[in-house]
Amino acid sequence: MSWDNLRSSVKLCDKCEMAATRKNVVIGRGSSVPLVVFVGEAPGEEEDKKGMPFIGRAGQVLDAEIKRIGLSYNEYYIMNACKCRPITKEFKNRKPTEPEMNNCEPFFVAQLRLLRPHIAVLLGQSARDAFYASSADTIPVCLSFIHPAFTLYKPKMYLVFREQFNKLQRIVEGLRGEWKNKENSLF
Ligand code: URA
Repeated sequence: MSWDNLRSSVKLCDKCEMAATRKNVVIGRGSSVPLVVFVGEAPGEEEDKKGMPFIGRAGQVLDAEIKRIGLSYNEYYIMNACKCRPITKEFKNRKPTEPEMNNCEPFFVAQLRLLRPHIAVLLGQSARDAFYASSADTIPVCLSFIHPAFTLYKPKMYLVFREQFNKLQRIVEGLRGEWKNKENSLF
């Protein structure tokens, strides 16, 4: 599947009820040849409005850590396992259901195949479950982190999140040279 196919298939998808309530589908942001891919659960209100992942408060926490460990814009990509905002009747965010996640699985897998990252960072349980239940190809390094939104409800968890990013920084520093050589060989 090409990027154009993926984008149009996601936009046309009406397999879940979310298709009727979404303002935008949310595909991803960042480099199309990333060293690291960050995978979240599903878009929230801000993301649904703008069609971009992780641009609300959880996104600010994520962006701050990405910046702190020195990842540059061409080195990472941010996406969600689920492409539409799941809401309750009261228009509150909720977790995507298993059937909803299954409907998104082909998009999730196609997107990872296009990106071919060296490292996948799975943010929270939904992303982790979606990844391991999917038919995604093997990614050399897969890391399970807490979801950045968790640090907003439980500030002590920020220390855990920082530690997880410190580990990512060490891995990135070890792989960056090898990855840059591969990227150069593409052109
Ligand atoms: N939480 C997520 O998992 N994804 C987003 O895009 C925003 C919040």
